[in-house]
Amino acid sequence: MRVVRTIADLRALLRPLRDEGKRIGFVPTMGFLHDGHGALIRQSAARCDATVVSIFVNPNQFGPGEDLASYPRDLERDQNLCLETGTTVLFLPEVAEIYPTGFQTHVEPGRLAEPLCGQFRPGHFRGVATVVAKLFNIVQPDVAFFGQKDFQQTVVIRRMVRDLNLPVDVVVVPTIRETDGVALSSRNTYLDEDARKRAQGLSHGLLAAKAAFDAGERQAAKLVEIARRSLADVDSIQYLELVDAQALEPLAGAVDRTAALCAAVFVGGTRLIDNVVLAPSAVETGLNVSLSPQRV
Ligand code: AMP
Repeated sequence: MRVVRTIADLRALLRPLRDEGKRIGFVPTMGFLHDGHGALIRQSAARCDATVVSIFVNPNQFGPGEDLASYPRDLERDQNLCLETGTTVLFLPEVAEIYPTGFQTHVEPGRLAEPLCGQFRPGHFRGVATVVAKLFNIVQPDVAFFGQKDFQQTVVIRRMVRDLNLPVDVVVVPTIRETDGVALSSRNTYLDEDARKRAQGLSHGLLAAKAAFDAGERQAAKLVEIARRSLADVDSIQYLELVDAQALEPLAGAVDRTAALCAAVFVGGTRLIDNVVLAPSAVETGLNVSLSPQRV
């Protein structure tokens, strides 16, 4: 595994690989890596000839009063995880490498950045879209891997890739959870024992709603209510919403298309997000029409 800090060094390393026709996978991260990141890197290593992992705590996606200054870091551990999971190149740019003096051009996502986290983190997805577009241009990967854990982020990025004709395939990897259901997150390190216990309500609620959905419950309000019941021990619920998985618009009545139940809560001063995707069968969405052979 090679470790590089500048765009020039990264490009010099990747150019011969690209010239040989190697397929390049890319996993952008903010570091303090865990098995969720590991799953993305492993997928990339399995599907691509070379895997680039970036660690960059992007100041432009943090709002005032958020945890930019205290965001956890452990470079030595991160390097080991990257090595173990099949990283070819680890890219560790400084802030000035990504945002040199005079930087002023941004990617402005549209409506998809407005609901859910967008309501509470103004400018967040603008910061994410901008840095991801820059990293795509720096790395020029064939495939980029993102976690379902940040569901709205995956939708915003897929839209950006289409809207700006970026030549990258986006792969979304399912959320990796602890055995008690809590989604792995770098921010879990902020939780003390009590908060960590209470955080279980978030995943328990969402997974209970998914279980109810899988057992046939289709009423949006009921599904939200099932999730809400498990959130009694969190300090506050920022949002808990069932939305169309593509448009991110709220769903009411019977769920007849792929939906995402998304939540953000505060526990012990830490903001946690999680989600489950609820996919009705092809029969319910009418997609089976052309798939099943015609019977006369
Ligand atoms: P971050 O370092 O938090 O910016 O995350 C980098 C990438 O890892 C993003 O695409 C996240 O969605 C993904 N990720 C974070 N946590 C998980 C998890 N528990 N399971 C799967 N992917 C994750």
